[in-house]
Amino acid sequence: MAEPLHIKDHSIEGLRERLAAAGERPYRAEQLAAWLYRRGVEDPDQMTDLGQALRERLGSEWGLSALEVERVDRSSDGTCKAALVARDGARIESVLIPEDDRLTLCVSTQVGCAMACSFCATGFMGFRRNLRTGEIVDQVCRMRAFAPEGRPISNVVFMGMGEPLLNLPAVLEAVRLLVHPKAFGLAPRRVTVSTVGVVPRIAELLAQVPVNLAVSLHATTDAVRDRLVPLNRRYPLAALLGALRGLETVTPRRPVFFEYTLIEGVNDRSEDAERLPGLLHGIPAKVNLIPMNPHPDSPYRPPSEVAIDRFLRILAGRGMTVTLRRSRGPDIQAACGQLALRG
Ligand code: SAH
Repeated sequence: MAEPLHIKDHSIEGLRERLAAAGERPYRAEQLAAWLYRRGVEDPDQMTDLGQALRERLGSEWGLSALEVERVDRSSDGTCKAALVARDGARIESVLIPEDDRLTLCVSTQVGCAMACSFCATGFMGFRRNLRTGEIVDQVCRMRAFAPEGRPISNVVFMGMGEPLLNLPAVLEAVRLLVHPKAFGLAPRRVTVSTVGVVPRIAELLAQVPVNLAVSLHATTDAVRDRLVPLNRRYPLAALLGALRGLETVTPRRPVFFEYTLIEGVNDRSEDAERLPGLLHGIPAKVNLIPMNPHPDSPYRPPSEVAIDRFLRILAGRGMTVTLRRSRGPDIQAACGQLALRG
């Protein structure tokens, strides 16, 4: 039997084609997107403009939702983490982060991760499988229910479990739904895709969708980065930064966001801070410092407040745009690098 049509696996354009192939009218794609993504309605019986026959197909033959909420944890700072279960039983996590002026959702792109970064809890899980497009966008659909006072999700960051660029086709289809005016309708600048540095896929991503690019840097020498990010042995700093330098879409108005997890005694010395501006020379950049969030699988610790402050001041003193990301939700293991599910 042919695999049933999973509606959320497709961009609106892709869904038009698939509906036509299934004998439905292509414009039903826009109507379905309005129900599912704009109005947040999942029950076919409520989709009053679709016609009885199509509603029945949606109810019996085709799949609408991809994930179920298994468990929700709320942090004292308002951050909300959910464990979500896919149809095959795979579990992932999403994190909803309320701030004054925005409501950000951090989505996962894979079950586990193959990158094995030595400080990241997801890295210790190993890789299970890629998520489908529907499983990526359904994180937005499910997590909307936990928004404070019904606020809309304003930003989506691909910074949950997994390496987005190793699941690029599904990620691209998901981004297309996020930014399509008839689907979620987010401005592309409100979507950020983070990569550990899968060099050959970076230009491809930006050529397809005008999202923000974040790059997990974490070190200023190959010796240190090799230890933290095993992929660095394949794409060392010169290759990574060289590729970023050649990107036409990166401009001062659309810089690269460099994530730098500060780890005590590993990458937090003054020499590291002093090396960074020269390393990033020629790349419009914003540096985001993230003090290491500890977890049981890793021996690494965050630097002292004094060391963090020193690092930040050196960068700012060299004219770099630098921010300190105080991770949200550490009390519920929802902070950067703490996403992992066992069992
Ligand atoms: N695989 C992609 C997407 C994940 S983003 C990437 O690596 O960019 C998650 C971010 O949290 C990455 O920058 C990652 O390096 C960082 N991170 C991982 N473990 C962390 C930890 N224990 N403390 C702080 N940041 C961590």
